[in-house]
Amino acid sequence: MYELIIIGGGPAGMTAAVYAARKKLNTLLISYDIGGQVLWTADIENYMGYQFIEGLELMKKFEEQVKQFPLDIKTGERVSSLSQTNGGFEARTDKGESYQARAAIIAAGKRPRQLNVPGEKELLGRGVTYCAICDGPLFADVKVAVIGGGNSALEAADDMVKIADHVYLVSLTPLTGDQILIDKVKSASNLTIFLEHEVLEIKGDSRVKGIKIRDLKSKQERELEVGGIFIEIGLIPNSELVKELVTLNRLGEIEVNCGNETGVPGFFAAGDVTSVPDKQIVIAAGEGAKAALQAHRYLQRLSE
Ligand SMILES: Cc1cc2nc3c(=O)[nH]c(=O)nc-3n(C[C@H](O)[C@H](O)[C@H](O)COP(=O)(O)OP(=O)(O)OC[C@H]3O[C@@H](n4cnc5c(N)ncnc54)[C@H](O)[C@@H]3O)c2cc1C
Repeated sequence: MYELIIIGGGPAGMTAAVYAARKKLNTLLISYDIGGQVLWTADIENYMGYQFIEGLELMKKFEEQVKQFPLDIKTGERVSSLSQTNGGFEARTDKGESYQARAAIIAAGKRPRQLNVPGEKELLGRGVTYCAICDGPLFADVKVAVIGGGNSALEAADDMVKIADHVYLVSLTPLTGDQILIDKVKSASNLTIFLEHEVLEIKGDSRVKGIKIRDLKSKQERELEVGGIFIEIGLIPNSELVKELVTLNRLGEIEVNCGNETGVPGFFAAGDVTSVPDKQIVIAAGEGAKAALQAHRYLQRLSE
């Protein structure tokens, strides 16, 4: 039985781990990967202490700091459920393992939202991708489509106009991202924008060959010949594993108070998976620290 289980190895989970270790809590960190969403971004210019750092490098520095401490770390495993037991909590993983602890912190972050259209699942990794930063260079001199109208989609379009032969930006709504980014993207000569268009189907057999879209107003359908599709339509919280334990808000985020408490004694949450607004690395890290300190106080009270 551990004193604390931390689920998630992004900025929130890794910071929580360091704070827990410095309080000498017997801690297990379980995460599918180390680094989380930060691995999907190349340039970070707003993490204090670094005027510029690459996402991968920043997460390596976090990991090195975590590994200074005698923590148990399990990676490559997804926690499928977290439930309450008599003495605390039990985390079950997709590999059939089960771990117990007196307190738990979830810092499982977010994952990309899917379009849910025919061809999306079948062609994932064969032209369909959710990460322009990671996969963009694979589409040099190819025609590609970027789906979405917010900042993530605009950033992806801005990256891809420099790499691809031509970029089609397809958005269900008018563009909703920052004006500065909209202006930048619109100035590219190799970009065509389809606003208020929905994606009906992704076409291809062994690789993406095209995309079928429909104008929401005129209902006119058209097919665009593309070899790559970047789906950038937002993120959803990885909160399903605790949906039986706590109440989620309408976005699927875990409601927490300013002490990262969820309402279930001994169970805390931190970072992008929570209702705390403004999803940023520095905020997730700070929330992870707070959650670990709060868990430590809870465990101290238990042993009094
Ligand atoms: C493209 C992009 C660019 C960004 N750029 C910036 C930027 O420039 N500056 C900035 O401050 N922020 C940026 N952000 C936001 C920032 O990355 C997030 O706010 C931050 O990563 C949140 O940290 P987190 O630890 O809460 O969650 P995450 O980073 O999402 O980490 C969650 C962790 O939990 C693990 N996990 C999830 N589910 C499970 C499960 N069931 N079992 C086990 N492990 C699980 C994951 O593997 C991951 O390790 C960007 C985000 C994106 C998507």
